[in-house]
Parts: sequence; structure tokens; C-alpha cells
Amino acid sequence: MENELTKRDHIGVQDFVLLEDYEHPEAFVENLKKRFTENLIYTYIGPVLVSVNPYHQLDIYNDEIIQTYRNVNFYELPPHIYAIADAAFRTMRSETRDVCVLISGESGAGKTEASKKILHYIAASSVHSKDLERVKERLLQSNPLLEAFGNAKTNKNDNSSRFGKYMDIQFDFKGGPVGGHILNYLLEKSRVVHHSEGERNFHIFYQLVQGATPMLLSKLKIQKDPELYHYLKQGNSTNVDSLNDHKDFHAVKEAMEVCDFSKQDQDLDLFILRMNCFKFEDTKDGQAYICDKAPVEIISLLLGCPEEILVSALQNKTIEANGEKLKSSLTKEQALYARDALAKGVYDRLFTWIVQKINESLSSRRRSKCNLMGLLDIYGFEIFGVNSFEQFCINFCNEKLQQLFIELTLKSEQEEYQREGIEWEPVHYFNNKIICDLVEGKPIGIITLLDEECLRPGDTTDITFLDKLSETIGTHPHFLCHARADNSTRKTIARDEFRLIHYAGEVTYNVKGFLDKNNDLLFRDLKEAMIETSNPILSKCFPKSELYNKKRPDTAGTQFKNSLSQLMVILMSKEPSYVRCIKPNDFKMRGVFDERIVHHQVKYLGLMENLRVRRAGFAYRRPYEVFLKRYKCLCPETWPHYRGSAKDGVEILVQHLDYDPEEFRLGKTKLFIRFPRVLFATEDAFQH
Ligand code: ATP
Ligand code: MG
Repeated sequence: MENELTKRDHIGVQDFVLLEDYEHPEAFVENLKKRFTENLIYTYIGPVLVSVNPYHQLDIYNDEIIQTYRNVNFYELPPHIYAIADAAFRTMRSETRDVCVLISGESGAGKTEASKKILHYIAASSVHSKDLERVKERLLQSNPLLEAFGNAKTNKNDNSSRFGKYMDIQFDFKGGPVGGHILNYLLEKSRVVHHSEGERNFHIFYQLVQGATPMLLSKLKIQKDPELYHYLKQGNSTNVDSLNDHKDFHAVKEAMEVCDFSKQDQDLDLFILRMNCFKFEDTKDGQAYICDKAPVEIISLLLGCPEEILVSALQNKTIEANGEKLKSSLTKEQALYARDALAKGVYDRLFTWIVQKINESLSSRRRSKCNLMGLLDIYGFEIFGVNSFEQFCINFCNEKLQQLFIELTLKSEQEEYQREGIEWEPVHYFNNKIICDLVEGKPIGIITLLDEECLRPGDTTDITFLDKLSETIGTHPHFLCHARADNSTRKTIARDEFRLIHYAGEVTYNVKGFLDKNNDLLFRDLKEAMIETSNPILSKCFPKSELYNKKRPDTAGTQFKNSLSQLMVILMSKEPSYVRCIKPNDFKMRGVFDERIVHHQVKYLGLMENLRVRRAGFAYRRPYEVFLKRYKCLCPETWPHYRGSAKDGVEILVQHLDYDPEEFRLGKTKLFIRFPRVLFATEDAFQH
């Protein structure tokens, strides 16, 4: 077998724990670089996998290599994403507990690719049955489908995930995947109507224009050229070298088939594109009217919504005051705004509907207890030229994940040594809780302050929100705005911006649109029009119950915050493993390793601290009862009958097994083992 893997992996160290100089990030980066230059993109820090995006296909992902990694102890083969998948899978099976793999890193670092590799590993599972094949196929096919609707070309990544995804894979007791469930987080829906220079709208639109049959296109009066559509061409980059929209369209169609989407379901997105063709003019008295009725005709047919209702909803606004309904005309500007809000709202709900459809097709019919493996692939930390509400949410999400990493690896690890009475020199690290609190804290946190400004009656604007931030949190060490900056930094922050000092770097946010995006309201007339449509998909997206629900829905910021807290609870309940992805350069280029940007990522991902804790610590720990139960048969004094305490039993056992005193410690309730090889040797003895 000749491949990149078997080219013996002797370059640098495979596990940073073995690095001689573990104090300096330069040595860390140097080791990554040495390996990267030889296409060795994976390196461990103990059980954590560090992965550097190679930006080209390596010959290390195939069934043969999957089989090589299957059921082999973690450290016996070169580091690989398959080893992480296999270890998580085996922990789940041997300890019958739920596990999760948390994949993090900035945009373009390779998170989505890593999660796909793990899915392939799972799908190549050795358990075969017709039922399982069906589930595996669906698990795999859910990817191209969601990527088509939820990914887009950005300046950082040609296939950037614009939504967060957490997927649970359910396994039966034999270890076969029997079902799955996806949770989706905050889709960047503003992209439907606006994207920046060099970027694109969601892939699906270009795929449809390039791939739909001529019959369908002519029925919708859509031309095959994306350049004709404002929603698609704003970034001047409708064609992307690394993507093949025509081919991808057919892959999406196939994926829809596999995931049980009906023929009718499959054309669902075209009308959003059509919506963009609504053109408005002003009448003399400043009221908006639609000048070309043809697109409205097509859409009202597609949506199953009477044309006059749609036209009226696009040109007017009804408000309810003192139980009376008042209808007023919109100006051209308001009408354009309403049109865009409708396009965004419909797309967002369609996306959630697609996730639900996939979940139905993935849902397990078995009632027996399953174990779960969670996979988290969520948008990476990002800094653009202009950063808005979306970046604010995305970066907040990354703060929360970093917090989880700190809690579970740096903090709890050290606390456990103390609790167990093991001698320990604390390792210092930056705890980003202070930033999480700044964003989500109550009563004073940016999201709460934003909500208050959205609800406060009167003339609130994005700027009054900014003033409020300045007043209430202006002196916070991680916050800065024009009014609060000193003379030299003031030049770098405009009057409508604020800056957060994130754990990963400083980001300046422009407040324009914050209130609007947080409020996330669809004009009532449009919402009602959507609720009344006869289109079966839309009536699921806009249920009738919304008509009667008088309670104001949560704001976008609060919804996001709540769903993130729920996610944290889910993740905390599982045994985690980590993949830390690193982007080697800003040009999406193979073979280029920019030390400066890698150094920055190593720093903010907390990898040095992670390494220090690992080096000083004990890689493995087992409660005395668990260890004794498994291995007591290896020692005549503990097998077949042993009556003393579990701790004493383990002490007898490790003496019998001849453990080097340097390699283990006896805590209050657990045995700690410094290097995994010791445990592996014991496990081998047990197996034979
Ligand atoms: P985002 O946060 O923007 O979604 P991401 O971390 O999910 O970013 P990916 O989409 O996984 O980034 O990776 C970006 C691109 O890098 C991929 O489209 C692919 O071209 C390349 N890439 C990433 N990982 C690998 C890999 N292991 N082998 C080959 N190419 C890769
Ligand atoms: Mg991604």
C-alpha cells in the first residue's frame, strides 16, 4: 500500500507532548511547519488532534486506511482524523456513554471537511444490513444538501458554512448507525439579499440557474445566466473555479431523492430568485407600486397566494392600534425593504424546514436505547472588512465554545488534580468567561442592552443603542467605542462602530442594522399573506397558529443566545474529543505555510496552555472501581476473589503489573496514569 500515510511519519514529533521545547510557540509552529511541508497535516496534543488545512487532496482518506485505523489503539498509528473517530466510537461502545467531537477553528480552517471525514468513517462501519445502508446513505447525503442551502463563497472560504450544525448519530448496541438528528443554528439569512464584493449568495441559487431543466426555467421565466439577477451578482463573482454549480445541482437533486424529498419539494427555491425581480416605483404622492406585474403573477402562482393579496401586502402596511386596523401605503424604499425581509424570512424558514425533512428521513425507527455520537461543525471565528450583527453572533458562539474547551480541558483538569490531592503546579491560561459575560450577561450584557433598545418605545436607532453601550459598558476592558477611545485609537473606530477584544483578536463591529436584524420582524401583511398560501411547504413554514399568537417572539440575539446555552448543556453531557483546525495561509493556497498567522491561531486556540497542562498531567484516569473491575483478573491476589477496598485493590494490582512509580499517581477516588502506553500495555495483557 503506497500512500502518504505509509511514508513513515518520522518528521518532527507526532505528539506535541514529546516536543522538547514546550514553552515557546515558535517551536510548536516549527513542528507544525515541518510536518505540513511533508503533507503530514495531523499532530496530537495528547488526545486532541491539531489539523492544518493542506488545501489539496491527500491520498490518506479511503476505505483501506479506514480499515487500518479501525480498532487500533490511538497512539499506535500516525495521527489521523480517523483515529479520533475510532477512539470516540470505541469509548461510546466500551463505556456505553454518549460522546461528541468538537471541531473548531477559524473560517476556512477545515472544520466541515473534518466532520465529513468522520461521517465517512462511521458510514464505513463494518456492520452491514440493508437497513443500515439506508441510514448511512442518508447521513452522507444530508451533507451536500445542507451545504447547497447553507454554504456560500465568502472571501475566506469558497465553501463557507453560513449556519451552525450539530449532528447526533445514533448507534444500536452492535455499533451500527441507526439514525441521526441535526440541530441548526442561526443561518446568515441577510446573504439572501446582500453579499459583499468577491462573495456570493447561497450555492443553491447558482446551482438552480445553471442546472435546472430548460422547461422549468422557461416556466419561471428565469434565464440561465446568474449575471442577470441582482441577488446573485452583487459580489461580481458568480463563477467560482473550485465549484461546479451544474454538477453540484445534480448531486443535490440526488441527495433530495435519498432523503425522501418529493418532486414537488425539489423546486422550492426558485421563487425567491423570482422575488428579486419585483421592481417598485413611486407614484407622485410617494407611494410604492409594482411597475412590472409579470414576476408577481408567477410567484403568486408558485406560492398559491392570490395576486391581489400579494400585491397589497407588498405595497401596504397594516398596523393595529386600539383594536382597530389601519392600513397605510409604503414608500418605495419601505417596499424594497419589505420585499427583502420577505425573501430573507422565507429562505430562513425554508432552511429550517429542510433540516426538519432531513431529520424525518434520518429518524430511527428503533425504540431500543441508542448511544449517541455528536458532531459539532459550527462557523469559525471571523473578521471581515465590515463586521455586522452576523459576525457578532458568530464570534460570540466561538467565545462560548472556547469557554467550553477551557472548562473541560484546562480548568476541570486542574481542579480534578487538586480535588484528588495530587501534587500540582497550576498552569496559567486566559479565561475568556469575562467576554462571554460581556455579551450575554444579565442585566448588563450587549444582547440584553440590544433587546432593551429594540423594545423601548420612541425613536431608537442603531446609534442610540451604541450610546447606551458606551454609557453602560464603556469602561469594560474588552469593549471600546469612539467616545471612549483615547486619541490614538479613536482614529481607528468610526462613530458608528464598537470594538470587542475577543479571545481570538480584536473585531470592530458596525452597528448599522443591529436593531433591525435583532428585531427580525416581517411586516404583518406579508406574514399573513404567507400564512394564507396554499403552497404545502410554505404553510408548514408559516403555520396558522402564528396568526393568533399575540406574544412578541424572542429577538434574534436572544434566540441565538438561548439555543447556544442549550447546545452547551448537550455538549457537557457527553464525553468530548477535540479537533483543532488551523488555516495555513489567507490565500486558500496549497504548500504555503504562513508562520505569522499560524502562530496567531496557536495562541488564541490556547494550544500552548493545552500542551502544558497535558505535559504536566496524567493522560488517563479511571475510578478505582472501574479499573479494578476490568483488570482484576490479571493478578492472583485480586482474582477470582477480592474483598478489600477498590483503592487497595488497585494498589495491589499496579504493583503486580510493575507500574513505574513515576508513571502513575493514586488520587482519592481515581488512579491517574501519565502516559497512555502504560494503560495500553495493561489492556493488551487483558485481551490476551
Ligand atoms: P467555515 O467556518 O467558513 O465553514 P471550515 O473550517 O468549515 O470554514 P472547510 O470548508 O472545511 O472550512 O475547508 C475549506 C476548504 O479547504 C475546503 O473546501 C477544501 O478545499 C480545503 N480543505 C479543508 N480540509 C481539507 C483536507 N483535509 N484535505 C483537503 N482539502 C481540505
Ligand atoms: Mg464549514
